Amino acid sequence: MKKICKISKKEFEITKKDLEFYEKMWVPTPTLCPEERQKRRLVWQNMSSLYYRECSATWKKIISNYSNDKKFPVYEKEYWFSNENNTLNFWKDYDFSKNFFEQFKELQNIVPRFSIQQQEPMENSKYCNFASNCKNCYLIFDSDFCENCLYSNVLKNSNNTLDCSYCHDMQYSYSSKNCEIWYKLFFSSNSINCSESYFLKNCISCNFCFCCVGLENKKYNIFNKQYSKQEYLEKIKSFKLGKYERISEMQNFFKEHIKKFTENKLEWRQNENVSWNYIYHSKNISDSYHIKDCEDVSYSQSIQKAKNCIDTTSFWENIENIYESATVWLNSSNIMFCFTVVLNSKNLLYCDTAYSSQNCFGCIWIQNEQYCILNKQYSKEEYQKILPKIISHMKKTWEWWEFFPINNSPFWYNETLAQDFFPLSETEILEKWYFYKQKEKSTIYNWEKYIIPDDIFDVDNEILKKILSCKICEQNYKLTELELTFYKKNKIPVPRKCPNCRKLERI
Ligand SMILES: [Zn+2]
Repeated sequence: MKKICKISKKEFEITKKDLEFYEKMWVPTPTLCPEERQKRRLVWQNMSSLYYRECSATWKKIISNYSNDKKFPVYEKEYWFSNENNTLNFWKDYDFSKNFFEQFKELQNIVPRFSIQQQEPMENSKYCNFASNCKNCYLIFDSDFCENCLYSNVLKNSNNTLDCSYCHDMQYSYSSKNCEIWYKLFFSSNSINCSESYFLKNCISCNFCFCCVGLENKKYNIFNKQYSKQEYLEKIKSFKLGKYERISEMQNFFKEHIKKFTENKLEWRQNENVSWNYIYHSKNISDSYHIKDCEDVSYSQSIQKAKNCIDTTSFWENIENIYESATVWLNSSNIMFCFTVVLNSKNLLYCDTAYSSQNCFGCIWIQNEQYCILNKQYSKEEYQKILPKIISHMKKTWEWWEFFPINNSPFWYNETLAQDFFPLSETEILEKWYFYKQKEKSTIYNWEKYIIPDDIFDVDNEILKKILSCKICEQNYKLTELELTFYKKNKIPVPRKCPNCRKLERI
């Protein structure tokens, strides 16, 4: 079956399998193409734009992914969870003379949220968002169980690792993506169980290899050519990899080398009936990527241990029957059109952030609640009576079975993952009537330009006091002591791009 997307006007396909899912979940076929549906979800995810601001209750200085110019109150986390705060004090009666998204927005503007998404225990890692169980980490996002890790996203169970995306079980590694089980890996992608190597792609169980593609169980290979141990070590030394110019040159050589190989099947692992890449130990997966241990999933991204999900982003651990939602964690099921649903939540519709809640509709930042509508408490009987009336009202306003419109997001478009994956210029954002976050003036400094030495050997601790400027976006950035030690120890030149540009390059 073919349909035309309401926004992009592009034709998109609805498969027989999709139709079975929609029937099972009692939903009609979508009105938007998969890309527009994904964009509508991603605009709710601001992982990495962090700000200093004040807590709206205690006036303490806090770090938050909500900038000061947002209308709603933002509390420090301890205060939000304290007895002083009850988000059911902010409620609305459903108004059948208005459309639902408008009423929801009004409620969004008054309900308090907390500053940053961190699950304890967290130690010395205050600049991390959507993170749990981290120690001594800095600017890592959507990451868990990490120690001494910096500037990474979707990094799990790793230590002493910098600039990595969609990786797990990494140690002493740098600038890599889609890799697992690594020790000292640099500038690599789509590889597993390797060590002491640079520039690998699609490799399995390789050690001491340089600029190689599609190798398995190899040692001392350079550009897929076998060398003796002695020759290998001499050649690597002669490359002088601590120099920025040499690393850039090698990056270009490697890009050319990759072109000699056809796309490798290693990217599909232990799967049954899957399309697309970056899918592991899964069954019946279509039009999705970064999927692990899942079954019956379509049009989704970054999902682990989930079943029967369509149009979903960022889910993990025992998740089932989800449609058009983002960020759902830990034992949650029957969730539709929701953002951030955590821990044993069930039967939620159109909610923005719910902890351990069940049978709620249109609620905002609730915890341990049941039978609420627009944050107002109802009895079970009342809830069951009013919900069908709301649904028939929303059918009349053409809102039912649609995820929230982009401007219902609490973030501006260019603060979110939507900007990372579907980048728009300021003019394009404003032309579409989306909200645009202006760059804060204080982030651009006038300073004496510091020339970073080409060779890491010539860089000393003085650099830690310097403000550097990204060669792509001109955003200022600084080095931390932890990263300078890492660069020196591993003979890696200081990056000339800011952490955000480096991330965009990786993803
Ligand atoms: Zn930059």
